[in-house]
Amino acid sequence: PSPADPAYLRGLNPPQREAVLTTEGPVLVLAGAGTGKTSALTARLAHLVATRRAWPSEILAVTFTNKAAREMRERIGRILGDAVEGMPWLGTFHSIAAKMLRRHAELVGLQSNFTILDTDDQLRLLKQLIVAAEIDEKRWTPRMLAGLIDRWKNKGWVPADIDAAESEAFANGRGAELYAAYQARLRGVNACDFGDLLLHMLVILKTNRDVLELYQQRFKYVLVDEYQDTNSSQYLWLRLIAQERRNLCCVGDDDQSIYSWRGAQVENILRFEKDFPGAAIIKLEQNYRSTPHILAAASGVIAHNGGRLGKTLWTQEAQGDPVKVVGVWDGPEEARRIAEEIEGHQRGGGTLDQVAILVRAQFQTRELEDRFIAIGMPYRIVGGFRFYERAEIRDALAYLRVISQPADDLAFERIVNVPKRGLGDKAVAKIHMVARAQGLPLSYAAARLLDTDELTGAARKSLGNLVGDIARWRDRLGSLGHAELARQMLDESGYTAMLQADRSAEAAGRLENLTELARAMEEYETLSAFLEHVSLVMDNDAAADEAKVTIMTIHAAKGLEFDTVFLAGWEEGVFPSQRAVDEGGTAAVEEERRLAYVAITRARRKCFIFHAANRRIYGQWTSSIPSRFVGELPADHVDQETTMSGGESLWRAQWSEHQDPFAHLGRSEGRGPGWQRAAATGVDLRPARVVEARTSPTSFAAKPRADIAVGMRVFHTKFGYGAVATIDGNKLDIDFELSGRKRVLDSFIQPA
Ligand code: ATP
Ligand code: MG
Repeated sequence: PSPADPAYLRGLNPPQREAVLTTEGPVLVLAGAGTGKTSALTARLAHLVATRRAWPSEILAVTFTNKAAREMRERIGRILGDAVEGMPWLGTFHSIAAKMLRRHAELVGLQSNFTILDTDDQLRLLKQLIVAAEIDEKRWTPRMLAGLIDRWKNKGWVPADIDAAESEAFANGRGAELYAAYQARLRGVNACDFGDLLLHMLVILKTNRDVLELYQQRFKYVLVDEYQDTNSSQYLWLRLIAQERRNLCCVGDDDQSIYSWRGAQVENILRFEKDFPGAAIIKLEQNYRSTPHILAAASGVIAHNGGRLGKTLWTQEAQGDPVKVVGVWDGPEEARRIAEEIEGHQRGGGTLDQVAILVRAQFQTRELEDRFIAIGMPYRIVGGFRFYERAEIRDALAYLRVISQPADDLAFERIVNVPKRGLGDKAVAKIHMVARAQGLPLSYAAARLLDTDELTGAARKSLGNLVGDIARWRDRLGSLGHAELARQMLDESGYTAMLQADRSAEAAGRLENLTELARAMEEYETLSAFLEHVSLVMDNDAAADEAKVTIMTIHAAKGLEFDTVFLAGWEEGVFPSQRAVDEGGTAAVEEERRLAYVAITRARRKCFIFHAANRRIYGQWTSSIPSRFVGELPADHVDQETTMSGGESLWRAQWSEHQDPFAHLGRSEGRGPGWQRAAATGVDLRPARVVEARTSPTSFAAKPRADIAVGMRVFHTKFGYGAVATIDGNKLDIDFELSGRKRVLDSFIQPA
């Protein structure tokens, strides 16, 4: 580093600088958690702009969450001062693709104001199609079909790409047909789902040279964070855009690949090497985030996975405290203990912003929330569509969609009889008939229906009111602020009154949510900008001034860091999840283990791991044993605590309240403190660790392959490029460029 270096380069270590300064040509940064991948990517972005290699609008930068995009934008702003006029193409794959698709929508038969469906709408639509196709929807559920279509879209497949074998996966070979019908129906209502955002763009780029060239020219540089979690269609999209200039820089960590259930393919790391030959491969090995104890604990757990690219990690941070593993009696005690620790942290001068509780599954948050509410500990829940998923919010959004997107039939169907206004299935069927006959969206067809005598009596009057309301609201959209319009719509439609009439505690909360919704809308300039935001936003963490503890899933915590991290519910069946355990295969458990690695490596200074001996899951008490991952923590870096604060009395209290959680064990020691200790330490009752024997299918008297020789450069399906060091029958030692020497079978390699 020289004193003449600009500020954004000064703190970087040599490989980080290389990642920043190698501006031309493909670059792959492959490194463990907390080694400064995101920091280097941000500095690279700043460097490209500061040195005038590109304008901010000429850089495509992909982050994994909206929050990460916001943070990166802020960091760039700080580095470059006012010089940066926003980064229009910095965002998630989805938000960037949505923005592009709005410009070219007509090329795939959509209008630029298309709606992005949520899961609920999607399932309703699929159900209609399944029923129309006379398929048994109990046996072949909309959810199954949604999952299948999503998988196809993640692979970049349009209906024509679905072959007979793939199609077989739904209703005896009718998968492709339904996929095609679904796409046609989406076009009909001017809508698309999440998978379509990328898929449509992929199709457009593949079939329209001029559009492709436009983006290939525009984007002088392409940057991608969390690269290990891209799926096929994302990868293909990136490759098309970056193919021409080849200035593609991806950063990632194969050990943090945690989205394979959503189609992510860690193999994309190897594909990169292949599709962009000559890529600079940069490894970062110094971790700047965590204490040595935390790092060693995480490394110890992930070492139980096979097939890793493997990497070295070290840190200069102070030793700090060992990871603390705490066994508790049950969920409420876990919540209480965590709250106590946090209060201690506050007394020691720590702020709540720097505390996070990470859970494996959403259901785990409720007990924590209950406790925090009881003691007045400020917290926020991050992750998922939680706020926008609530029914009343969905209803309100549907009203807004009907106003702003007249063709949005799904929204119209959702609100036509909410609140109840006597427009039942029969009336709706009549509207549908007019819509089909005249080729109109439902909201217009409804008006036409009133020109006929088809509808009479109360239903007619009611529909007349609704049609009149909708027309009036659409009129006001031009003159009235959209937040105010939303308030008026909720009042005039009778929606507010419906909730006010409902005396339950829940209804009060719903009214509050609607108020909150209008408040949220005020932050957006236009209604469509707001609706776009709702469709895309994953994390509803509206910036509030007060410092709060963050509660979120491990998935949502990716890329983030906190001084103190609490990991709750490390029990078999919770983490690893029951599903992963049931599947029994290595792949599912290995993905859970990568999640464990991500979880531990979020912590800077302190990491606590909790497991409870009893857990109430969906109202059922179950006794549980500590997670296998607890057993995999290296002993030298862990402090075990097995006290059960007030365990005995607490246990008695529960005893009278609930049924015996240990009845099936039929053992008296199962109820005493002795058992508690055993369960808590995770020693006695754990099943023998499942050793995943990685026996290779070596054949006897294996003959070496004739086409491979020592010194040759080869490609391995899992480890990428390397040079053959030794040959021993069909086993080879290969020096891989990404992961060093490994022994592999010759059947998995090919000459490069
Ligand atoms: P993850 O794998 O979790 O996404 P990462 O590799 O992206 O992690 P960053 O989040 O970029 O890592 O950095 C981790 C921490 O280390 C941050 O607090 C960052 O500010 C700090 N850091 C990064 N590089 C350096 C450096 N060269 N010197 C000092 N601190 C650094
Ligand atoms: Mg990162």
